[in-house]
This record gives sequence, C-alpha cells and structure tokens, in this order.
Amino acid sequence: MNLSPNLLKKTLCLILLLWVIQLTAFASTQVTPGPTLSVLVSINPLQLAIREAFSDHVESSLLLPPNASPHHFALRPRDIKALRSADLVVWVGPELEQFLRKPIQQRITSGAASFAALDWLRTQQTNNLLYVNQLRRQHDHHPNKQKNNHQHQHGHQHEHQRSTSSGNEPNGDETRTGIIDPHYWLNKELMISVIQGIKQQLIRIQPELEASLQQSVQEFIIRLSQKNEWKELTDRQFISYHNSFDYLAKAENFSIVEVMTTNTEVRPGAQQLGKIKNLLADKETCLITEPQFSGGVIERVFKQSSLPTIEIDPLGAGFSDYSSYLDHIMQLLSQCGKHINTSRH
Ligand SMILES: [Zn+2]
Repeated sequence: MNLSPNLLKKTLCLILLLWVIQLTAFASTQVTPGPTLSVLVSINPLQLAIREAFSDHVESSLLLPPNASPHHFALRPRDIKALRSADLVVWVGPELEQFLRKPIQQRITSGAASFAALDWLRTQQTNNLLYVNQLRRQHDHHPNKQKNNHQHQHGHQHEHQRSTSSGNEPNGDETRTGIIDPHYWLNKELMISVIQGIKQQLIRIQPELEASLQQSVQEFIIRLSQKNEWKELTDRQFISYHNSFDYLAKAENFSIVEVMTTNTEVRPGAQQLGKIKNLLADKETCLITEPQFSGGVIERVFKQSSLPTIEIDPLGAGFSDYSSYLDHIMQLLSQCGKHINTSRH
C-alpha cells in the first residue's frame, strides 16, 4: 500500500503527538516521589505509625517479628546487618529494647542516625511519660491498699532498666521513681509527638523532602484527632497481664487496677493469681491477656472459669496501619467487662 506524502506527514504528526501525550502522563505520575529513605523500626506499633505517617517517602522494615516480645529478644546476624545499613533506626529506648543498646551506640559512633522515642518524649514540654505502676501507686496511697506496694517494688527492679536520661526525675519516693514505663505507643498524643520527632530526623537526612513530610504528617495527625472518643470505657476496670495498657488507660479514662506481673520473665505466682481471681470475682472487671505471654497458667486459671477475659495484642500483629490498630483495641476493650459477665473465650 502506497501512502501519499500528505497522509504520511499526518500519520507521523499523530505518532509524535501520541508520544508527547504519553511522556506528559508519565511525568505527572512522578509528582509524588517514591520511597527514598530506609528506616529500620524495632517494634510493630511504631512501624504501623511510621508507615501511616510517611508512606510515600519511607521504606520501613521491622526488626522484631510482631509475635516476639521486645522484653526478651536476641539479635540474629541479619538483624545486625540491617541495623548497620538503614538510613535511620527507630526504637523505643533501652527501657524496652535492652538488646539494641550496643548496636545503637555503634551507629552513633559512626555518625549514623537513630531515634529513641522515650528520649524524644523526655525532651518535650508536654512530657506525659508514666513510671511503672504509677497509676496504681497513686491508688495504693490509700491506707487500705498499702500491702500492694511491696510486691510492685520487686517487679520494677527486675523488669526495667533505670532511666538513663539526665534530669526529669522527680525527687523522693525511693527507687521506683526512676523507672519509666516504656509502653507509650498506645497513647495517640505521645505517638503523634514521636512522629513529629522522626519527621525532623528524616528532614535532617533528606532536606528536600521537608514540604511533603510536613504534609503527610499533618494528614496523619488529623486522622488520629478525628477518632471516636469511646466514652463507654470511662471508669471501667481492667486487669492486664503486664503493664502494657497503662498509657491507654490514662488517655481514655479507664483503670488498670492490677497487673499480673511487671516482670515478664517470671510467670505470676500462685498468690498473685489468687489475688487477681478474687479481684475479678468481686468486681465488674475484665482481664486482658496477651498472645505473647498467654500460656498454660493463664488458660488454666482464668479461661476455664466464666470470668470475663479478652485477648489483646499490645504489639498489633496483623494490622497495616496505626489508626485501625487503635480502633480495634478500643473495640475489644469496650466489649469486655462491666456489661458482659459470661464471656468464655
Ligand atoms: Zn511490655
């Protein structure tokens, strides 16, 4: 088939036009930059928040499998490699991940970036950090409850490291005051603050991302502040396996009246289990168990009975973002306790 010169010219023009349109379309999809910074995160809830707040700019990876307890973890060779190669390492702090103290120190020495959430929160004006058992201790100042103090004191000393930060430690009240409860991540205000701190670090590493990081963090804050209030939880009472829900209780106005243990390396003794069983029987209280620590003892003592129990994972395994993880926990809490006396799980 012979094309006339005129038709050939028109065809060539059309091809050129289509090529230009395609190029323009390709360019417009490139407005949002893809992941540019590699961030290694110690625990799952922190990664959920980082993923939600910085999804377009950060490629995050998780150090601890979500089903592992950060209280007892040993680094594998591939973890050590990942700790060296990431642009930024984010962790809670030595109060929780003792095993990260040395690798983080090595990063600091070599000039690599790291971010400890608790250290950041200590520097903030609105420092809402809690000491281990602080809320129950305030309770315990009631003369009838003085007998609880002895037991708490032991848990603290074994479980958590003394705060290493200078200053900011209240005076008096013996050894207990210096031990920060590391489970800050269920308080969304504190998590927002931590995300702001991580944003500053990311901007320091890659300043050209500043505007987009500001915007995506702003969207994250708006999403969290628009959350339901869960007023039905106000003044409800819970007992938890360990002290992982105190920050959430304070933020949402419910109480954790007792914990089975603050030292997760030791299973609660018969005396403590008996005490908790009595508390559960006497009051409209719900027991929160945790998948990382559920084992024979809990099942035997509590799940066989008709006492209200609910299993909640404070590390949020299986979730893709922080917002839906928080919603899920609040929903579970609101289903257990006061109004339900027969939940067998
Ligand atoms: Zn814990």
